[in-house]
Amino acid sequence: MSRLIFIIVVIALVWWVLKSYRKQSNNSEASKPAEEMVRCKLCGVHLPKSESIFSEGEYFCCDAHRRERADRKE
Ligand SMILES: [Zn+2]
Repeated sequence: MSRLIFIIVVIALVWWVLKSYRKQSNNSEASKPAEEMVRCKLCGVHLPKSESIFSEGEYFCCDAHRRERADRKE
């Protein structure tokens, strides 16, 4: 009888692992097209649009690069 419980527990565990693994891979696939990637005008690094700094029609990875670019223009 304990052997049967052990088998049920193992099946439940495998099912749970497969389910959580599938959920994870689905999430990573779904998040890719949702987040648009942009390129820093100064150093060329790629980053999500939501994390970038947009200034005068150009994207930057950080405020330091935005300021450096503005200084070079002048
Ligand atoms: Zn940069």
